[in-house]
Amino acid sequence: MFGRFKNIREGFAKVGPSSSPTSKKVISPPLGSTKTLSSSTMTSASTSRAVEMESEREDTPEHEGDGVETAQLRSPNERVYLHYSWTPPSTPDTLASLITIEAPPLPPKPEGWTRFVCISDTHSMTFPVPDGDVLLHSGDLTNTGTLFDFQKTTTWLMGLPHRHKIIIAGNHDLTLHTDDGWYDNNYDRWHWTKGKQDVKAIRRLLTGPEANAAGIVYLQDEDYEFQTVDGGRIWSVYGSPWSPAFFGWAFNYPREEGKELVEGFPKVDILLTHGPAFGIFDRTRGGDDAGCEDLRSRLTELRPRIHLAGHIHEARGAHIHTWDPQNNYEAPLVQYDAVMQDYAPDLEDEDLNLVLEGEDVSGDAQEEENSEGVERTVFVNAANYPAGKRANKAGRAIRFGEYGFQPVVVDLKD
Ligand SMILES: [Zn+2]
Repeated sequence: MFGRFKNIREGFAKVGPSSSPTSKKVISPPLGSTKTLSSSTMTSASTSRAVEMESEREDTPEHEGDGVETAQLRSPNERVYLHYSWTPPSTPDTLASLITIEAPPLPPKPEGWTRFVCISDTHSMTFPVPDGDVLLHSGDLTNTGTLFDFQKTTTWLMGLPHRHKIIIAGNHDLTLHTDDGWYDNNYDRWHWTKGKQDVKAIRRLLTGPEANAAGIVYLQDEDYEFQTVDGGRIWSVYGSPWSPAFFGWAFNYPREEGKELVEGFPKVDILLTHGPAFGIFDRTRGGDDAGCEDLRSRLTELRPRIHLAGHIHEARGAHIHTWDPQNNYEAPLVQYDAVMQDYAPDLEDEDLNLVLEGEDVSGDAQEEENSEGVERTVFVNAANYPAGKRANKAGRAIRFGEYGFQPVVVDLKD
């Protein structure tokens, strides 16, 4: 028991408020035994990390904006804005800052295209987000899913301009995992001082009339169809909050049950999962690929236009993959992105151009030969919570949602 307890402590010390696994080889103990863990260990670990984050933020100088490159990925029917010039607010985590700080200026989407703004792992933080037709959030809306945190997050989301705001839960959104009494049976591991949270009130914040009126659509193992223009294209989306087992947090599944889970995912335009697929923006700072192998093989059948995940903050990135029927629709292996150069990324698709600011890109997407029948997926890990090598730049801590961890903007041709 002591050995296991020690592992948990180390795991938490490494990952802080994120639950990103440090190793896929760390197998979560069964739920029955995690229940006996001391909740005070978890609480104090995350509290001290939160304090640390605060002081880092106070001590850091203003963003200087030097060496900032704009980077986008392009293919005939897809454009992805990964990094862009933007000076974020010095105190991004206040609702007031949303009023005074403008979201980054991005080129307008072409006519007949739809703009999806992808964010994830916001963990109770709020920040300015570029405008677009659809906001997609891939889970970990909060740190532990308290009513207070959900009030803050939904107030922020409701104030954003997007017509549709499609969101899912993650392993940190504990109070949304109510099936089979999960929260009732586990709440005291996290909320032993705050008390059991009002799960009905929390769900009402996400699914009640006010949320509806503001365009919030909360998906938990369900699909949804919507139009961004009346009479326009109908988009389909499916959302799944689950991620592979990690110390018995919410919406965790044992890896051996992955196949059964992903078989339930339907063919849709947009797939939101909290956890990434194996080999696709899933590499932890420890160097392990923590994603789900069953999700990876299921994606070769589903081939959505966008697959958005998060969970592994340090693996944030995006990639446009062209599916090749001659090659059994093999899924890509891709980590990080070309601009940050932490790893050599797999960006070899012939029809993909990485465009840096200053390069002449006039008309390259239009000049592509007829690509009818060609299927592509934009893979995105949009974690906004800085972690890993990119969490520090020029000797200071990168702030939440700042360069390197900005919202990923994806334009799709309808
Ligand atoms: Zn997570």
